[in-house]
Amino acid sequence: MALPSHQKATGESVYICISRGAKKYHSHKCHGLLRCTHEIKAVTRAEALKRKYTACKICY
Ligand SMILES: [Zn+2]
Repeated sequence: MALPSHQKATGESVYICISRGAKKYHSHKCHGLLRCTHEIKAVTRAEALKRKYTACKICY
């Protein structure tokens, strides 16, 4: 699986929105997260991937 070179190790922290529609993880509190009306949670990238989140196109 080819990943963009700017994606680092899976241990880094990412931000996810805890809601049914949210399927993106973010590298920081980017404006994609501002639309999140639910809880924003910081998790490792590995954890986000395990939850089937994919990289946000804005901040990744
Ligand atoms: Zn983002």
